[in-house]
Amino acid sequence: MKRIAITTLGCKINQFESASFQSEFELRGCALVAFGQPADVIVINTCTVTGKAGAQSRQLIRKAARTSPGAKIVITGCHAQMAAQELIDMEELRDSQVCIVGNGNKHLLVDTALQEKSCDLSMLMGKILRKTEICPLPVRRFNDRTRAFLRVQDGCNSYCTYCIVPYTRGPSRSLAAGEVLRQAEIFAGEGHKEIVVTGIHTGMYGRDLKEGKDIAALLQELCAATPGVRYRLSSIEPLEIQPELLRLMAERSNFMPHLHIPLQSGDDEILSRMNRRYRTSDFAAIVNTCLRDIPDAAIGIDVLVGFPGETERHFANTESFLRDLACTYLHVFPYSKRPGTVASTLKEQVAKAVKDERVARLRALGEQKKAAFYSRHLGTRRQVLVEGKRDSKGMLKGFTDNYIPVCLPGDETMINTLVLVELQEISDTNVIGKHIQGCNES
Ligand code: SF4
Repeated sequence: MKRIAITTLGCKINQFESASFQSEFELRGCALVAFGQPADVIVINTCTVTGKAGAQSRQLIRKAARTSPGAKIVITGCHAQMAAQELIDMEELRDSQVCIVGNGNKHLLVDTALQEKSCDLSMLMGKILRKTEICPLPVRRFNDRTRAFLRVQDGCNSYCTYCIVPYTRGPSRSLAAGEVLRQAEIFAGEGHKEIVVTGIHTGMYGRDLKEGKDIAALLQELCAATPGVRYRLSSIEPLEIQPELLRLMAERSNFMPHLHIPLQSGDDEILSRMNRRYRTSDFAAIVNTCLRDIPDAAIGIDVLVGFPGETERHFANTESFLRDLACTYLHVFPYSKRPGTVASTLKEQVAKAVKDERVARLRALGEQKKAAFYSRHLGTRRQVLVEGKRDSKGMLKGFTDNYIPVCLPGDETMINTLVLVELQEISDTNVIGKHIQGCNES
């Protein structure tokens, strides 16, 4: 029996794809072992979104060669797509059998990993920019019983100037609605209680298909087909938040009131240099509409700090825009130069110390926003999906519908169930809650 180890860096899409590899290896009778244990085949699903992610990818490859000399090392993901030859030439892989599988050919990965003959690099890399179909990657289940990711779309056509993704994942492609529903039913049958609908550019869902369904229509079908599952949208571009999506979120009890929206900069000049297609006034209007329709919704915002040419004045605009924006939390990232992107060729790269200081300022602002949102909900009752983990004090953990992390006392029978919880006090980064007995929890 072949021993297989899989390790994954990066986004939810990579996690979904790795879960598919795992399902397929198990189906073929292989034994899954933890990464770092001796294995016959090691799969490394890499990321290249920042310079650090690329370096981490190479570190994992070195570790694989060290811990399992003689193993077949299969490298896939965005870093593999961008730097295939560089990886093959790594000194540490001199004595290993190496396969590189491009993002467009991930459905061939398991066959490739188990075959005896050597790999054909040009065939396995493919031409990602010419891909017109998403690769089929069915998943049986996720190791985490509670939550599963469902990839409905891959690729992007937007070419934001800082982003390498359109080059690593190719153009936007969607999974047919029938296949999405089939996958959701499999997850529901395996006992997953929450499905996070993910894509690289989720709001583009369906535009390449003839079915005429957009992301709102897809979610409507999903919510109706598996009413016992709660759905969360992973992230959506501001201009793609359509009234229909908000209506659905307001009306369907199993579509979670939570939107994660990339802003990237609160300065119009920088937005334009980033090739983002909205201005701050559009963004603020969209967030206000979301909150008008769904007042308790969690609104998460991505911000990229230190884009080339970002002066203190630009940054101050971002800071003040975010201070005034009624959002719940911020994901703040320092800009990192990706070779091959337009932004990497721009002069005026911002010094690391300046970026670090700006990131710290916005992260502090994000913490204030979060605390204000949590405080506003103290004393209220919300549905919490209890997960399999406990905190250091032995409390159960879970998230409310509107993404408040909650710790509560309770026993094992509550795991992977929805319970009604009264939110009582803030403790560090969580809210302490009390399970309300005898209430209607449906
Ligand atoms: S929308 Fe922009 S940032 Fe997002 S994946 Fe596409 S190019 Fe990258």
